[in-house]
Amino acid sequence: MNNDHLSEAEIQEYALGTAGLNTKEHIGSCAICEAKAANYRLIFSAMDQLPQPAFDFDVTSLMLAQLPQPETSPDRDERRFYLLIFGALASISIPVYVYRVYFFKMFSGILPAAMYLVILVTVFILVFQGIEMFRKYRKQLNILNYK
Ligand SMILES: [Zn+2]
Repeated sequence: MNNDHLSEAEIQEYALGTAGLNTKEHIGSCAICEAKAANYRLIFSAMDQLPQPAFDFDVTSLMLAQLPQPETSPDRDERRFYLLIFGALASISIPVYVYRVYFFKMFSGILPAAMYLVILVTVFILVFQGIEMFRKYRKQLNILNYK
């Protein structure tokens, strides 16, 4: 009689609802196979209720790595800005240094006090213009980043 029972595969098919007519007929008349099928159904439904398999890697950090990072980009732009200022200063100061003899000759006719005043005013204007430009630049960057 045992040989007539359904195989595990057939019972699983029945539990999944994909069994053939012969299997269905056997289950209808066999309590043992019906019980086995009920067990499989229980297992399958429990498996359906299991949470989705979690990723074995950190999805959030991966996603964040893909995203542009507003925290670091202003820093990088800030560095670029300072580099630009440095470049501008260098392009002024290097020729002044190289031709310093001619440069001082050029100012030798002017009174030292007046010369210092001119330099001081020029430096002040440049610094404040730089700060103002930088503030404006940061403001625009913030608007772009956080809007
Ligand atoms: Zn059976």
